[in-house]
Amino acid sequence: MTAYRCPGCGYTYDEAKGAPREGFPAGTPFGDIPDDWRCPDCAVRDKADFELTSGDDAAA
Ligand SMILES: [Zn+2]
Repeated sequence: MTAYRCPGCGYTYDEAKGAPREGFPAGTPFGDIPDDWRCPDCAVRDKADFELTSGDDAAA
């Protein structure tokens, strides 16, 4: 599983789940998300700020 986490609020984008409310269906690779996309939870962090995570909340 590949997921990316917002360093500001902890929101995680999981490629397997996507972000349907953002318009990204399950299975959407993080690379397919527009570069100007911002964290849907805090709206402060940009896509580039997201950190790769194993999906385990205890990691990193
Ligand atoms: Zn955030």
